[in-house]
Amino acid sequence: MARAPAERREDLVALYKRLSDDWECPLAEGRTHVVFGNGNADAELMFVGEAPGASEDREGTPFVGRAGKLLDQLLSEIGLQRSDTFVANVLKCRPPGNRDPSPGEIEECSPHLFRQIELIEPKVVCTLGNFATKLLSGSPIGITKVHGQAQEREIGGQSVLLYPLFHPAAALRTEAVLALLREDFARLPGLVEERLAVSAAARGGAPPLAPDLRSASDPPADAGPAPDQLGLFGG
Ligand code: URA
Repeated sequence: MARAPAERREDLVALYKRLSDDWECPLAEGRTHVVFGNGNADAELMFVGEAPGASEDREGTPFVGRAGKLLDQLLSEIGLQRSDTFVANVLKCRPPGNRDPSPGEIEECSPHLFRQIELIEPKVVCTLGNFATKLLSGSPIGITKVHGQAQEREIGGQSVLLYPLFHPAAALRTEAVLALLREDFARLPGLVEERLAVSAAARGGAPPLAPDLRSASDPPADAGPAPDQLGLFGG
């Protein structure tokens, strides 16, 4: 049976508290903060990056550096804000020197990402770059081949549309990648709208109006406690 957004948000906050509270992961020693992720706890659209960098580790918030600014810019170009979405990473702690996540670290950390997806119940999950794409697609095929190709996947016990995108950091390095990322982004509102219509039809209700991606059952903005990053899971 479907769970109410407020109930799911409560479980998400509990997971955040558990991980923020001295979570002993292989990267614990070098981290300043666990970067749990933030945004709308009942978002229809979720983004999954690779791992926190230095700024994210310092602030405890995902995508606050240059790549994050580009993500915000691309979202605003399609009429959205970060707070309309939920943003998380494959790894919740920064790998030393921003090196690539190791297979062991991904194995250790990814159950938390799957749980986040299960609790948020997004309709569309955008993977940013190779690590998130390979993990959530369950395929070794890299981002250059699969970017912009929406795929149906079973993740966190539910069916979601996986939409692989280039990582914004790669787009900052190469103009041509930025152009492709922008093109792929432009298709996002249509994909979310389609998914909302499909689930509304399955429930026997009317599809919600675009471009508001929130569901009518969003919790009020002041739902729940708001110390630390918790206020960032608001509706
Ligand atoms: N790159 C990522 O993949 N995630 C962040 O949070 C920041 C940069």
